[in-house]
Amino acid sequence: MKHAPRPNGYRDAWCGQLTADRADTEASVAGWVHRRRDHGGLIFIDLRDRSGIVQLVFHPENAPEAHERAHALRAEDVISVTGRVTRRDPKNVNPNLATGEIELAASRLEILADAETPPFPVDNGSDVDEIIRLRHRSLDLRRAELQRTIAMRHRIVATMREILNDRDFLEIETPYLTRSTPEGARDYLVPARIQPGSFYALPQSPQLFKQLLMIGGMERYYQVARCFRDEDTRADRQPEFTQLDVEMAFVEQDDVIDCMEAVMGAVFEREGYAVAPPPWPRMTFAEAVSRYGIDRPDTRFGLELHDLADALSGTEFKVFADALGSGGVVRGINAGPRELPRSDLEALTELAKQHGAKGLVWAFVQEEGWRSPIAKFLAEPEMAAINAKLDATPGDLLLIVADELTTVGQALSALRLEVARRFDLIPAGRHDILWVVDFPAFFWDADAQRWDAAHHPFTSPSGDLGDPANLTSEAYDLVLDGAEIGGGSIRINRIEVQQRVFELLGIGPEEAQGRFGFLLDALRYGAPPHGGIAMGVDRIVTALAGVESIRDTIAFPKAASGADPLTGAPAPVDASQMRELGLRPA
Ligand code: ASP
Repeated sequence: MKHAPRPNGYRDAWCGQLTADRADTEASVAGWVHRRRDHGGLIFIDLRDRSGIVQLVFHPENAPEAHERAHALRAEDVISVTGRVTRRDPKNVNPNLATGEIELAASRLEILADAETPPFPVDNGSDVDEIIRLRHRSLDLRRAELQRTIAMRHRIVATMREILNDRDFLEIETPYLTRSTPEGARDYLVPARIQPGSFYALPQSPQLFKQLLMIGGMERYYQVARCFRDEDTRADRQPEFTQLDVEMAFVEQDDVIDCMEAVMGAVFEREGYAVAPPPWPRMTFAEAVSRYGIDRPDTRFGLELHDLADALSGTEFKVFADALGSGGVVRGINAGPRELPRSDLEALTELAKQHGAKGLVWAFVQEEGWRSPIAKFLAEPEMAAINAKLDATPGDLLLIVADELTTVGQALSALRLEVARRFDLIPAGRHDILWVVDFPAFFWDADAQRWDAAHHPFTSPSGDLGDPANLTSEAYDLVLDGAEIGGGSIRINRIEVQQRVFELLGIGPEEAQGRFGFLLDALRYGAPPHGGIAMGVDRIVTALAGVESIRDTIAFPKAASGADPLTGAPAPVDASQMRELGLRPA
């Protein structure tokens, strides 16, 4: 804490900052009873506030009245205490505590609020059911880990603001009650009383507003923005989450990347997080997919994917021949010298299936041929050629998947991560950061039989729209240890291009005008070239704090189910409210 509290009836010092230089002076502190110990006649209380802990001692002779009342104190009672800062006997010094050289010999004790027995202890990180923690979040927030991560979150966001403010950005708010923004998720809708049967949508991102701000001449915008996407909650996902949202006018991709490297470089440096200083390496989407199977590669360990088509030309093994014959691929990784029981190989097969693969081929390389259920279907030279492609030597475990390209990539990248986790292949303390660039602009959605925007429909394609399959876009993602922590693009700034992209995506002129007319109208009156990015604040804090779930970085998160155990949301509403909103007949 930089400033001592203004002296008042409760306190004049922070608990965690009463150190030996205050010895032999009077001080008042206030906070929560962390622990109480009765030692013969003496009562010791560890008192806690946000700054830390200080030990109070109550002497029966010196302060009989305070001592008497201290007997009744229990964990989490709220008290204010005045006393004398006293050096501890050298043998009682606690080197683990900033205040460990002193204690406060209490002369006055005021009990400000009693606490009932808490449903879980605040003074240790023991395993407590998350739902119970979330239900009693105000108690949970007092725990050291949440105190630490919430403070870190604040510092990270403050650094982001500071660097952007320094670079002439304006922080501008955009509406929460708005129209749908297509980021590929389901909308949260808010029924409109003023227009029964109509709805506001909560923004999936401020995308269109930040573009309007650029067209409005604001030049450089940022916002610590809440985004709402109605998707199934996962460990790294919440229905509402926070982005550092940024947009800049008259910029090229390098300008946005440079700006974000300044912001994130400062964040990492100040938090002492061991990533290389910027500039960070860039990898094309094509390279990421070919070497790692996905567009957010974890490059902290090897186990790269290799294409096995050359080794298998003319193979008679049906699974491989069918995949290659129908435009698919056969790829594999060398998992290294591993011995795995049958049950683990089955678990890996199951994992491949969860990622869409029809199955997994596993093989242990031997001096002669393979030990593998498919060894009998492959010719000796085929196995030898695969060994060569995967740089395999006897004892190595090979994992091979045959399917269409995306499925193979997803299955093998999941297998790669699982093998790395199981065999501890990620060097402790190592962090890799990189940009993935040159994304395809569109991909073909086979289910819907139409083109879809790889990023979003406002991303500028670089090239001729007549050939959507081969178009890239100036989109970029920032990837930390295999997790996407941010992404953005250069946008379309000419109405005719935007209209053609809508057309390509199957959004006809009428629908485009209906849904995005406000953007199209703005594009008519002179839009500067512009681009931006959004960084996932919750994920960044999760990584830097080294906690497991983004829920541990958000003061009031939803549970894994998407519900809020604290307030009970979502909750039914009165029939009268429903009628007022036009959701029920009057
Ligand atoms: N609106 C995008 C998103 O939320 C980010 C961007 O393109 O700036 O992912």
